[in-house]
Amino acid sequence: MPSSSGRVPLIAALLLALAAALTVALVPAGLALDRRVDDVLRRTAIEDLGRAPMILDDRNAARAEALSMHAQSVAGADGLAEAIVAGRTEEAIATATATAAMYDEEPVLVGPDGSRIVGPEVPAGALDEVRRGGTPVLYVFDDGMPRTLALAPLDAESGWMGAAGTSSPMDATLATTLAALARADVTMIGADGSLIASTLDPDSVSAPELVTAVVEGRSNPVSEQVSEVVTDRGPTWVAVSPVAGAGTVVFSRSVDEELAALPGVRRSALIAGLLTLVLALGVGLVVAGSLARPVRGLAAASARLAEGDFAAPVPVSTIDEVDRLGRSFESMRTSLQARIAELADANEALEDRQERLHSLQAELIRQDRLASSARMAAELAHEIRNPVANVRNCLEVVRRGLPADSEGLSFADMAIDELLRMHELAEQLLDLNRPVSAEIGDCDPADVARNVATLAAMGDETVAVDVHAPTDSLRVPMPPDALKQILFNLVDNAREAAGDEEPVEIRIEGGDQTVTLDVADRGPGIDPAIAARLFDPFFTTKDAVTGVGLGLFVAEGLARRYGGHMSAASRPDPPGAVFRVVLPLARTST
Ligand code: ADP
Repeated sequence: MPSSSGRVPLIAALLLALAAALTVALVPAGLALDRRVDDVLRRTAIEDLGRAPMILDDRNAARAEALSMHAQSVAGADGLAEAIVAGRTEEAIATATATAAMYDEEPVLVGPDGSRIVGPEVPAGALDEVRRGGTPVLYVFDDGMPRTLALAPLDAESGWMGAAGTSSPMDATLATTLAALARADVTMIGADGSLIASTLDPDSVSAPELVTAVVEGRSNPVSEQVSEVVTDRGPTWVAVSPVAGAGTVVFSRSVDEELAALPGVRRSALIAGLLTLVLALGVGLVVAGSLARPVRGLAAASARLAEGDFAAPVPVSTIDEVDRLGRSFESMRTSLQARIAELADANEALEDRQERLHSLQAELIRQDRLASSARMAAELAHEIRNPVANVRNCLEVVRRGLPADSEGLSFADMAIDELLRMHELAEQLLDLNRPVSAEIGDCDPADVARNVATLAAMGDETVAVDVHAPTDSLRVPMPPDALKQILFNLVDNAREAAGDEEPVEIRIEGGDQTVTLDVADRGPGIDPAIAARLFDPFFTTKDAVTGVGLGLFVAEGLARRYGGHMSAASRPDPPGAVFRVVLPLARTST
């Protein structure tokens, strides 16, 4: 069926082509066949009818011999000649009648003087022939009826005594017999042109009409023996056979009846043609289906390809062209699949790189922010360090003047301590921005870590700082004091987060280019909400007394100053926080 877009499915196109080809082939063939059948039917019927007069002649010849014998039999009948000679006419007639009846014929008797005793009038010529000893068989027209007449000389010792024989009418019985022999209708016309007998069906052609047409010679010849007579009931083929002296026998066949088989043949041919078409279309459907199937498979595969399904294989076909198409399609599919896989890999790599770029960018931004914060903090520290030292010196002078156990002395001590702390803080901040000298030296992080562990436990025995370090000595390009300060800050925070009872771990591991120091505690871990701000200056979650928010800022600043960096994360087991310091391996380290 044509689709709405005007395109036709392959199977329908193939069937349409097949149907068109068959129609083009079948219609002229059918028309030619029809003409040929019509022609053959006409010719056969005409030839058949043309042989009818010969059949009549043959039949008459055979009949003549029989009639001649009948005549001789009557002429030789016992006592017939004697009865004629003796003038016993009645007896003679009875004898002749009895003998002729044996042949279902009527008697013919002619006296010695040539006069008729019984039977039709005998032509003089025939009588002469009998007189000469002949046994003629002839046709006569007697009393409006044609008859066959057979004569033989009467068998008498005294010479010519007359003739005897038989006669029979050429009537409807003969017409029926002839009709059966010639397989045609027979119409017998008398010598006077009258209708004698006919086997014609009165419903088809009226015998008188035919007789009139034949007698008037209204016919067109269609062959040597046959001509066509057209009456009101349609055309009729006739073969006319004159019977000497008796009239004419007309053999006829109705053209319509002879060609009556034609519509049936046409119908059969049409049905056969349609059946052939249906059968061919059925077979065509199967063949077209097997032709269209691989093409449909190819179309489905290309549709899947268009939808992005590159894994679906293209079906193979036994049809060479389709198979070649399928193979080129398949190689196109596999190369596309390979290209897409390559693209996917490249895309993945790109995404990975982009992700790393993002985190690198974020890290750069963070470091930049920290660096500028550190610079600002250092400038601030530089500005306040001297005034703080001056205030502290002044306070020392004031303190010395105070009585030993006065309340003022203790306040002065407290103030001096706070000022010391501020001074120390300022020093730390300044350290961050102090230019690195060419000789910064290096240290073993394991030694520094153990030192920090010992110092942390010194004031409080409940504190446990476990150091796990590789046996090989590692060195980092950093003064030991700087690393000590980093670790102190981290251990202090760990103790504050987890409590003094919980152990703190310092784990040191050496890599190809770096040394990693993890300081892990068993506290609450890193709150994700503050993770991004941990290393910011003055960021603290502690109260004003315990925290100023510079410990991690300073530690990170020191790590970065000596080529390293820091990060923080929570760990699940055991739960807690891990602060990681990554430092470069010193070039001199072994
Ligand atoms: P301070 O200790 O003065 O608050 P820090 O810079 O050392 O300043 O620490 C900043 C903040 O980081 C702390 O206030 C705390 O909230 C968080 N922090 C630091 N160390 C830990 C830790 N080990 N576990 C959980 N949170 C921590």
